[in-house]
Amino acid sequence: MIGISFYQQVEDDKQYSQKIAYKQAEMFFDYLVLMRQWNSRHGGVYAPISEHNPPNPYLNTPYRDIVSPDGKPLTLINPTYMTRQLAEMQLRQSGIRFHVTSLTPLRPESKADEWEVQALKAFENGQPSYTELADIKGKPYYRYMAPLKLDAECLKCHAVADKRMGDVGGGISVSIPASDIDEFIGHRFERLKKSHFFIAATGVIALLIAYWAQSKLTRRLTRAENHLQLAYLDALTLLPNRRYYDAFLRREWKRATRHRYPLSMIMIDIDYFKAYNDSMGHQEGDQCLRQVARTLRRYFRRSGDLIARYGGEEFCVVAACDASQILQLADILRMAVEMMHLPHPSSPISQYVTISLGVATLIPNEKIECTELLHQADQALYAAKHSGRNRVAKYQD
Ligand code: GH3
Ligand code: MG
Ligand code: MG
Repeated sequence: MIGISFYQQVEDDKQYSQKIAYKQAEMFFDYLVLMRQWNSRHGGVYAPISEHNPPNPYLNTPYRDIVSPDGKPLTLINPTYMTRQLAEMQLRQSGIRFHVTSLTPLRPESKADEWEVQALKAFENGQPSYTELADIKGKPYYRYMAPLKLDAECLKCHAVADKRMGDVGGGISVSIPASDIDEFIGHRFERLKKSHFFIAATGVIALLIAYWAQSKLTRRLTRAENHLQLAYLDALTLLPNRRYYDAFLRREWKRATRHRYPLSMIMIDIDYFKAYNDSMGHQEGDQCLRQVARTLRRYFRRSGDLIARYGGEEFCVVAACDASQILQLADILRMAVEMMHLPHPSSPISQYVTISLGVATLIPNEKIECTELLHQADQALYAAKHSGRNRVAKYQD
């Protein structure tokens, strides 16, 4: 955007300064016309003949040269002669060119150049002015030209048969060196370059600071998240750990107390896991824990339900459901593990890894602690173990 802005401003400035150049030329033209009118209104003015003011040989009028009462020779300066003298002064002083010209000039020096001829022809077709960037002697100029209308004074010298008052008698071209404008644009370009560079640099610095602050914040957040995960996640099975489970249970217990709905729990323990470790090795034991965990977690998608690693080869479930629903879920979990068909060569009850599950349900109230539910589920697990393993037992008083 800064690039676009820069480009746009440079282009705008170029066009604007061209307009100013043409406007300046037009103003010169208007002043010249005004001075010519003044001169013409006085029927020309007499001035002492000098090196700078020789008699105009092309001025064909009686009393062109006279002598003042005190004996000074004077010569008549008509509008065209005056314009010519002004043009010479201006060219010397500023390089700006005026040229009074016509298609039929009296003076050979007043002959129109190619560009002026085009302009004069355009005026005869009614065009009010003519502007263009054009070369004079190989140098570029902003050129402006407008017509001069013939008046009575002009016709005294320029008496041509087919010309009448108000006709285009010629024109004055004003040419402003393009180098003047280029110099101005050059300065402006430098200033624009500096200001845009400053804006861009400020923007880049601001972006860098924002990026730096953002990445610092992200790093801190990630670190905090990792700490949180470590604090609440079991590293081996990637299930929530006991600490998270306890907090979750307390929260759910309170909620169930408020709303008086039943809360259920399942305690899960892998059968003969010590024997598994002994026969297969501890690493295989870890692998077995991970696989069982992955199978079990698939059944827990609801936000009110949770399965966690309770410790060792024990898992624990809490779910907001009633006794029959939790029995169903427990049986599904038991079958899911059995159907994994993980070989367990040293198990006396099955060729595969199996689990025992103890289930309990309570409708919490202010008088019961949540540890009561844990206790009951544990009791039920004990019962499942003692009645043969690979089964679900419900807590009974
Ligand atoms: P039961 O059927 O009565 O549950 O018998 P069990 O052998 O599973 O019970 P016990 O509690 O005696 O043994 C649990 C074993 O689980 C003891 C320990 O070696 C093993 N164990 C506990 N945590 C891990 C663990 O993170 N990795 C591995 N590989 N083994 C573990
Ligand atoms: Mg155990
Ligand atoms: Mg066990």
